[in-house]
Amino acid sequence: MRIAVVSDIHANLAAFEAVIADLQGVDEVWCLGDVVGYGPDPNACVSLLRAQNHLCIAGNHDWAAIGRIKTDDFNPDAAAAIDWTASHLATDSLRYLESLPLEIEKHGITLAHGSPREPIWEYLLSPTIAQANLSHFGTAYCFVGHTHIPVIYSCHAPTVPDPSLVGIPVSNGACIAVEPTYDAPLQLAQDRLIVNPGSVGQPRDGIPEARYIVLDLDQRTISYRRISYDIEATQRKMQAANLPTRLWMRLSYGW
Ligand code: ZN
Repeated sequence: MRIAVVSDIHANLAAFEAVIADLQGVDEVWCLGDVVGYGPDPNACVSLLRAQNHLCIAGNHDWAAIGRIKTDDFNPDAAAAIDWTASHLATDSLRYLESLPLEIEKHGITLAHGSPREPIWEYLLSPTIAQANLSHFGTAYCFVGHTHIPVIYSCHAPTVPDPSLVGIPVSNGACIAVEPTYDAPLQLAQDRLIVNPGSVGQPRDGIPEARYIVLDLDQRTISYRRISYDIEATQRKMQAANLPTRLWMRLSYGW
């Protein structure tokens, strides 16, 4: 079974369409949240996602767009984009976003937008934070988004019996951050992993391409993918919608 894992689509339809067009022999699409926010096509992105054999969890932008959290903690541009998104969400998109859970566990893998400890808000940005999260999920692997930065935290984490945490593997081992490579699959082995595929719709590692990963459960591999897309098509729509200038300019730089 092969699964495409996408995150942080952020209403960037051109980027999401390029990813969908790139999929080959994929049985399911798993989405790690932030389907909307920032970009100009929230309804079309929700529709394209729903057309896939998929599952999805909620991100902070999804919750803000449906009014479940306030935008006080968002920067002014992000908050402006949320206001725009909220006023343009179709009813069926709204209902769909309202239905998304915070966490899903499937095939021995945990999905959480920010982190398993704080699914909506925590930015999993360092090996230290990765290690602190190990006792907050009960599977060998966890997929997260939210930072928009592709990375793998590999944690040497033998299962330590702990009567207070029955069934949850507990780590005393440290995590390291591994930068993904795009030319060869990563073999899943003994170590526990927290995997961030990067962002489909707003990359932030300096390379302005849509990212996703393919998880092959039979081969037990993860392959990172990097796809160019029509950035200007998205930028033109954002300008026409009067979305903040900084938000469409950053797509050119992947930052
Ligand atoms: Zn995001």
